[in-house]
Amino acid sequence: MKYISTRDSSKDFNFEQIFIKGLADDGGLYVPKSLKRYSSDELYKLENLSYNELSTELINLFSEDFISKEELSSLIKKSYSTFREKEVIKLSNLGEIILLELFHGPTLAFKDIAMQFIGNLYEYYLSKNDKKINIVVATSGDTGAAAINAIKGKSNLNIFVLHPNNKISSVQRKIMTTIDEKNVFNIAIEGNFDDCQNIVKQMFCDLEFSKSINMSGVNSINWARIIAQTVYYFYTYFKLGKKTISFSVPTGNFGDVFAGYLAKKMGLPIDKLIVATNENDILHRAISKGDYVSREVRETISPSMDIQLASNFERLIYYVNNSDSEKTAQIMKKVNQNSYQIEKNNLEIIRKDFLSESCNEQEILDIIKKNYEENNIILDPHTAIGVGAAKKISFNDCVVLSTAHPCKFPDATKNAINKYEKLPEELEYVLNKKENFQVLKNNTQEVKNFVKSKV
Ligand SMILES: *Cc1c(COP(=O)(O)O)cnc(C)c1O
Repeated sequence: MKYISTRDSSKDFNFEQIFIKGLADDGGLYVPKSLKRYSSDELYKLENLSYNELSTELINLFSEDFISKEELSSLIKKSYSTFREKEVIKLSNLGEIILLELFHGPTLAFKDIAMQFIGNLYEYYLSKNDKKINIVVATSGDTGAAAINAIKGKSNLNIFVLHPNNKISSVQRKIMTTIDEKNVFNIAIEGNFDDCQNIVKQMFCDLEFSKSINMSGVNSINWARIIAQTVYYFYTYFKLGKKTISFSVPTGNFGDVFAGYLAKKMGLPIDKLIVATNENDILHRAISKGDYVSREVRETISPSMDIQLASNFERLIYYVNNSDSEKTAQIMKKVNQNSYQIEKNNLEIIRKDFLSESCNEQEILDIIKKNYEENNIILDPHTAIGVGAAKKISFNDCVVLSTAHPCKFPDATKNAINKYEKLPEELEYVLNKKENFQVLKNNTQEVKNFVKSKV
């Protein structure tokens, strides 16, 4: 499989290049040159596969020039052996709604599913290449923990995680900062998540710097993460008896919901993908009105979605414009000037696949309360937004992606129902262990200096 940048289709890349680099030099995102589309007969051949087997089949389509199918299969098995659920994910009922529980990995959020996989993919790459790699990643809370857990202790790999100081939940922070390994560095930036993400982007775009440290990225723009997330859409479809289904997806960086869109493009019978946002509702405004202009980021009780610049949206722009990279590059100029209004015809195309809604803080608390009273289930605030969005547009018969374990957000659930879930026993230690992190200004040079001093 060959890949190109969303902003330039003249240069080809292979899987190894796009996996290690993450972001293209021109600022664009990598996309495959072509996609396999499963016929219904081909789809049905996948229906009885275990989660690991299905992952192997699907991911192999994208990575076979990098890793053999046999090696991929054992790598996937190893990746998901760290999960509490044997089949990685779990489907459960919440009244009429079906919850797709994605939080049974080591750091209790859906990001473990992709991250455990790519941690081992790095290890595989380094077993064949005599190199040292430095991963730099921005997190709104859950990515960092998942990445650290996946990379800690691996040789020839360092990881630097930037989180917005005081803007993530204390449990989220502690899961990251109590890991005591020589190759893990936590940095708290005096700014918000978009600032963190900007610093990482600027470090990447400074090619002299990024090459000098063999910088690599594991943010949700990394194609390897997207394909690992595509798997659970397929798996859910088979488990639910092969009916056309809709998914409601709590959305921040548009990575998880884009994986659903990719599944649909590959032939999975998905009706609608509901983009569910918190008060940081740029994606809801974009999809409902075409207004893709970002505003100030607000802090909410669903911090992993406190994002105003949804990086992966560029991939949707690319596909909606018939895979035209020149057009995409032009549009991204407008996006970067914060003045993009989606063209009317493109909006119609987007609305064939997507619906959107947003929930404010009070609504999130109310949803947590209502579902606790009616179903005796405690929802984390992100999942609550997925449920709330589906209800608001009366899409009751749908699957809501449950993206985090409620114990990660005790303040939110305490506020809603005066109760909070305990951490699973194996993670209780983080509450009292010494934390390690460095507070730095919202300044790219300062972060570069810090990273240089550690590599
Ligand atoms: C990251 C995250 C999201 C948003 O996922 P995106 O891929 O960024 O859209 C939603 N919920 C939780 C709990 C998360 O950690």
